[in-house]
Amino acid sequence: MKECIAVINAGSSSIKFSVFTNDNSSSSSSGDDSLELIFKGQVDGIGVAPKFEATAPDGTILASNEWANHPDVNHKMLLDEIIQWAGENLDGREIRAVGHRVVHGGKIYSKPVLVDESVLQTLETFVALAPLHQPHNLVPIKTLAQMDPYLFQVACFDTAFHTTMPDVARNFALPRNFTQEGVHRYGFHGLSYEYIANKLPSFDLQAAKGRAVVAHLGSGASMCAMLKSKSIASTMGFTAIDGLPMGTRTGSLDPGVVLYLMRQKHMDTDDIERLLYKESGMLGISGISNDMRVLMKSDDPRAKEAVDIFVYRVKKELAGLVAALEGIDTLVFTAGIGENSPQIREQICQGLQWLGIRIDSEANRRGKPRISTSDSDVSVWVIPTNEELMIAMHTRKLMVQNTVYH
Ligand code: AMP
Repeated sequence: MKECIAVINAGSSSIKFSVFTNDNSSSSSSGDDSLELIFKGQVDGIGVAPKFEATAPDGTILASNEWANHPDVNHKMLLDEIIQWAGENLDGREIRAVGHRVVHGGKIYSKPVLVDESVLQTLETFVALAPLHQPHNLVPIKTLAQMDPYLFQVACFDTAFHTTMPDVARNFALPRNFTQEGVHRYGFHGLSYEYIANKLPSFDLQAAKGRAVVAHLGSGASMCAMLKSKSIASTMGFTAIDGLPMGTRTGSLDPGVVLYLMRQKHMDTDDIERLLYKESGMLGISGISNDMRVLMKSDDPRAKEAVDIFVYRVKKELAGLVAALEGIDTLVFTAGIGENSPQIREQICQGLQWLGIRIDSEANRRGKPRISTSDSDVSVWVIPTNEELMIAMHTRKLMVQNTVYH
């Protein structure tokens, strides 16, 4: 029977899934040559108005559904719906393994891991490090393990790519005992950065060997400084609210603001968490939307201010990463905003000419792949990311290593 690999990315309000072919399964290749997308989909709006949609690789809608919000329409029930729909649409294929996006690998995991009971227990201990994400990431792993204890499940971490960061980039200026117990920068979006690092040589071999900054600009946004394709610094820190302002997250904030909110506004931990993660960023500044497309179209000065702050902060953080790299050869834009907004890319690059960054307006408008002028000191690229494919590649690699094939 032909087989396939499923990928699950479960968050607090959405569960995304993709299924890839895993043909040539007896080959020892761990690349993406045998991994072709069969379908993908998601349930979003969990807890508000859950909606399911599955699409073919060409974007054709294969199925959709909606539910009224109800306590029974929870992550578990919606996951069951996905499993059932996927099972009925595999066209005779068998799911041989499932790769999961897991936000936190703590101090322990610097690469993906095959999940068993003891690994799962370890992953549970990282809930304290990412309370809004980690529990949701673990639900599908536990649910599938209950359904089939022998299912090959792999956890792929957002933090793993950044374990190459040196101490000087990793550690906060806190007393050592905090650092030793794990209160330091981890960095996130690692699967996206790893995918770009893998792709970079096919676009620009020199870039892959040199100093690159990758800007993952989506509803979550961060940047990574890569030296010879390894992370040496990231704008995200202990949590995924550090660094750039995002759709609804503050990005870096003077910690004194949190003390002020506690003392003067009598806000408790949950209030502050909601403010920092859900009510700030582009949404908080504009009071209109967290969606960059909406803000770019709006005439409201508050929308313009939100976009201006975003662009300003990208430039400022980028300069910091260039300092960490002691120069820059390559800049890569990726994720929803980075891949799709020529205006934002142009606004960012216009302020960076002093760094030797010059973009070609026409190439930027077309958006791919190289958008810098031929005389630009820094090559600038737009490279679409694919975290799901990266997870499928890792899953396949572990299957080969664990001789799942005979
Ligand atoms: P992601 O989290 O990578 O899926 O990116 C989502 C973000 O990308 C949202 O803020 C979208 O508004 C933004 N986005 C997608 N397409 C565009 C576009 N054409 N122009 C500006 N922002 C976009």
